Amino acid sequence: MDNKFDLIVIGAGSGGLAAAKRAASYGARVSIIEGSKIGGTCVIRGCVPKKLMVYAANSNNDIKNSSGYGISFEDLTFNSEILLKNVKDEVSRLSKMHLNSLSKLNVKVFNGWGSFIDQNHIEISCPNTGKSINKISGERILISVGGKPKRLNIQGGQFLWSSNDLFELNSFPDSILIVGGGYIACEFACIFRNLGIEVTQVIRSNNLLNGFDADLSNSLKDTIISSGIDLLFNEQLSSVSKKRDVLEINFKSGLKRVFNSVLVAAGRTPNLDNLKLTSIGLEMNGEYLKVNEFNQTTKKNIFAIGDIIDKPNLTPVAIEQGRVFADNYYGGLSRLVNYKFVPKAVFTIPELASVGMTEKEAIEKFSKENIKIFKCKFVPMSNTFKNNKNKSMLKLVVKKIDDKILGCHMFGDASSEIIQMASVALNAGVTKKEFDMTMALHPTVSEEFVTMY
Ligand code: FAD
Repeated sequence: MDNKFDLIVIGAGSGGLAAAKRAASYGARVSIIEGSKIGGTCVIRGCVPKKLMVYAANSNNDIKNSSGYGISFEDLTFNSEILLKNVKDEVSRLSKMHLNSLSKLNVKVFNGWGSFIDQNHIEISCPNTGKSINKISGERILISVGGKPKRLNIQGGQFLWSSNDLFELNSFPDSILIVGGGYIACEFACIFRNLGIEVTQVIRSNNLLNGFDADLSNSLKDTIISSGIDLLFNEQLSSVSKKRDVLEINFKSGLKRVFNSVLVAAGRTPNLDNLKLTSIGLEMNGEYLKVNEFNQTTKKNIFAIGDIIDKPNLTPVAIEQGRVFADNYYGGLSRLVNYKFVPKAVFTIPELASVGMTEKEAIEKFSKENIKIFKCKFVPMSNTFKNNKNKSMLKLVVKKIDDKILGCHMFGDASSEIIQMASVALNAGVTKKEFDMTMALHPTVSEEFVTMY
């Protein structure tokens, strides 16, 4: 009896935890299998530890820039060992908190790696020895194993760190090369640079943050350059060799440089290799698992959520997919995940955030003559007395025919907080006129959203 469940969840990350807890709260007999720490990417090696580091970098940056406010210091130092220890302690606290709530809900936790025996049976292997330690069966199985960083397949690639390795460090290096132009690469470039570390960022294209509005990524590019990060566009690594404490990097252009460390943040891929999926023959959608709108795979008792399906790979999306799955199959509800306006942020310094269509997407869908763009760029009041005169940027993409706001984009302090609230309005179908009729809150940066004409 102990090894038979209504639901087996493989992977205790954002999506898996949400699904397991919600299903158990409806009275289902639920088990969850996790080979690493409970919490998954977001809690253990993603959003949470990263954001704590962003707070550290912002604090350092603010203090350094505040002499115009009369704030001075004798000797400002940063001890990365203290930060990294505190981050690890906080992550462990959160992991334990999740474990406690699973136990309160009677969710049976198996510590090990799960793989399919057949459509209803899962084998669990020991994380240390790899030996089989248990076999369990479930009426339904939810796969929520998340993603993993892509590695660079070049000579010396074994010396390069992924984002996972960063969170295991005891101290930060003096200099770092960051490979990639996506959100994780840009966030770590800003964290390290604003904590006093020499940063070079290498991007194989000529652009940062593909998929974001070009005005936002260009604003970020200017700020990144002015913060002292060395940006190398249209460049790639060709090989790496380790010489005592340093890494010698050969680039494809023939350039050679030396760094203390290299972080590869060049994309992520679903973490499906160890599940023995061939034994059950699930259909794929490219590198992702194929699912229908109820997150059901091509086997009717097996479901998939989170970073292993082709939807925005973000924590709130994985959580909502998990909850919707549990509501539908254990709570007697019938609902779908709303993907219409998924807000996203990049926690650089300053941060940027977006909800809805970029200008380029809106032009592609409705053509240029059918949309209107409103934007403004200015030095925010918070920078008045600072050495840093970086500008904030706000932008609205509006459909002419019905005045609906299609996209809302911001670069500047607190963008993520502001765009979260703007996404409520966009989700409700707000028009530009309704923004204009909304009273401004002064003095703020976001008041520009309701005063732009
Ligand atoms: P995960 O949270 O990755 O959980 C999967 C779990 O499954 C892991 O614990 C793993 O150990 C376990 N597992 C894997 N295989 C097996 C197996 N065979 N058996 C048992 N267990 C297994 N998103 C945001 O929304 N905001 C952010 O600011 C943000 N920042 C990020 C920063 C970084 C550096 C990274 C890497 C990601 C970030 N993300 C962010 C993305 C976010 O973390 C993921 O979208 C989210 O965690 C996906 O949830 P998931 O449930 O699909 O998988």
